[in-house]
Amino acid sequence: MQKILFEQLPLIKITDDLYRLRCNNPGMMTGTGTNTYLVDGEAGFAIIAPVPNGPDHINNILLAVGGPGNITMILVTHMHPDHSPAALPLAKLSNAPVYGSSAVDDPFQDVTCQPDVIIEHNQILSLGDITIRCLHTPGHVDNHVCYMLEQGGIIITGDHIMQGSTVVIIPPHGKMKAYIESLQLLLDYPVKQLAPGHGEMITTPIDEIQGLVKHRLGREQKVIDKLSMASPISLAQLTPLVYDDVDVSLHQVAELSLHAHLLKLAEEDRAICTDEQWLWRVDKNK
Ligand SMILES: [Zn+2]
Repeated sequence: MQKILFEQLPLIKITDDLYRLRCNNPGMMTGTGTNTYLVDGEAGFAIIAPVPNGPDHINNILLAVGGPGNITMILVTHMHPDHSPAALPLAKLSNAPVYGSSAVDDPFQDVTCQPDVIIEHNQILSLGDITIRCLHTPGHVDNHVCYMLEQGGIIITGDHIMQGSTVVIIPPHGKMKAYIESLQLLLDYPVKQLAPGHGEMITTPIDEIQGLVKHRLGREQKVIDKLSMASPISLAQLTPLVYDDVDVSLHQVAELSLHAHLLKLAEEDRAICTDEQWLWRVDKNK
């Protein structure tokens, strides 16, 4: 449609069909801010990750696409407060349907976001000349979806893969086993670039994805090694041992990921929780 206006917008052209508009919400969990992607097809724009509700960002989206009538669909990667709250107001302004996975019962979810269309894994959406493949990628949360622009091999990754920071996996709806499997899933597709929800474009996707899997499995091995030496041990006691290479100020967040690692090991019968005090030990019978 080529109605993109660059003037005075935090907008970057990635390809002839894809633009990135950054939200002004920088912070510890959002880095330089959450990215909204604008896909410019013959049948109108798809807005991927409408991000926080707020007049500035919504106005910027509308300015960039030339008005609400040019929005054909709104795609939600997941329902965290830095990714989906603008979906509802944008849908009201544009009458465009909201696509996403079903909401889950999770206190971190943005409950205002109720998709009109519940997408299925591998579902194809069309903007005329552009097709978008929906990839269910649980792990960061159960209802996370990535969107692949099939013509250019660009996967819009939401919080499945971030650039410049590590994705936090928070149980129970964040699951380490599903996360690693969802990373490996992306390798089944002809991916050429990754467009993350936070940070810059990633132009070496295979190396990036393989590196992320290796990093997680390396951390998992460290969990096993420390458990083998120190178990039974509480989650809080284990955290500084497993994350001795991470600044103490981040240990509270790291404890969440450690919990996710332990639940993966428990699911695989490689560790067990001995009681409700979250004491863990390696299950030597396995
Ligand atoms: Zn998230």
